[in-house]
Amino acid sequence: MAKARIIDGKAIAGELRARVAEEVRALKSRQGLTPGLAVLLMGNHPASLAYVGSKRTHTLETGMNSFEVDLPGTTSEKDLLAEIARLNVDPAVHGILIQLPLPPQIRTAAVIDALDPAKDVDGFHPWNVGRLWTGGEALVPCTPQGCLILIERELERSGETVAGKRAVVIGRSGIVGKPVAALLLRESCTVTIAHSRTADLAGECRRADILVAAVGRPEFVRGDWIKPGAIVIDVGINRVPVEGAAAEAGASKSRIVGDVAFEEALEIAGALTPVPGGVGPMTIACLLRNTLLAACRQAGVARKD
Ligand code: NAD
Repeated sequence: MAKARIIDGKAIAGELRARVAEEVRALKSRQGLTPGLAVLLMGNHPASLAYVGSKRTHTLETGMNSFEVDLPGTTSEKDLLAEIARLNVDPAVHGILIQLPLPPQIRTAAVIDALDPAKDVDGFHPWNVGRLWTGGEALVPCTPQGCLILIERELERSGETVAGKRAVVIGRSGIVGKPVAALLLRESCTVTIAHSRTADLAGECRRADILVAAVGRPEFVRGDWIKPGAIVIDVGINRVPVEGAAAEAGASKSRIVGDVAFEEALEIAGALTPVPGGVGPMTIACLLRNTLLAACRQAGVARKD
């Protein structure tokens, strides 16, 4: 059997960002409106700093305004909520992203609840979560939206849609697993959400036309769990130590792998996202798209996809 097609998330994300940039240009010239994204960071967690830097670069490249609010890691919940209240009413800010994780003195749920749902570009506010499941206009979480776009793009190649396909999502987090399942269900997939207590996980996976792995365990999904020809979306980002000669040659001591055993999956899947370069780049592209959507909705500007 031929090897799986590798889904180029980097290229698809680049196209999406270019489309967002084009709309932003039109919005500026026709409506005098520049979408603005505020990113709120507490403390100086190295991974968070890197994510925030990359979000700023892409926001500015797309022609949007980028506002960064850096608060000390010792900030109280009361002061953080006051900052959110200020951003909620700032007319130049159309999207607010709270960089997670937050320090232990802060109740993450209380902070998310305090966001104006119209500016909640992460799609984590209960109002947006509810709308995702019940229907209607919502801001949808970025990584799950990115997964759906990659799946739809792959199916389009053979003139198919997700409707009627059997999907298995491994992972039930509010950030990835559940919203991916909600999006696939909304598109009329038959969806199973598998998790750490699922009996016969491999058997469930083997029935999936579409398999989404959001577990956080390196190379957890093995090749023989995959239905021949399935579309496999690997959301996992796991840092593992590099062993052997490569490590000794002075190269980086760790590398990033996904939740799927890539080489094994290549032999059996129909199409597969790599890690890195698959779902990851789609997350920021969808964040920019959400900021554009939020700006248009707040300004009452109609748009079509
Ligand atoms: P999480 O820890 O909140 O959830 C993991 C889920 O996996 C849980 O629901 C759990 O039930 C399930 N699970 C754990 N062990 C299992 C087992 N043995 N069998 C079956 N299911 C099991 O993680 P998350 O926030 O959903 O993230 C999942 C992965 O996706 C992580 O690697 C994370 O780094 C990555 N991620 C990537 C992006 C991106 O932009 N590409 C965004 C968010 C998360």
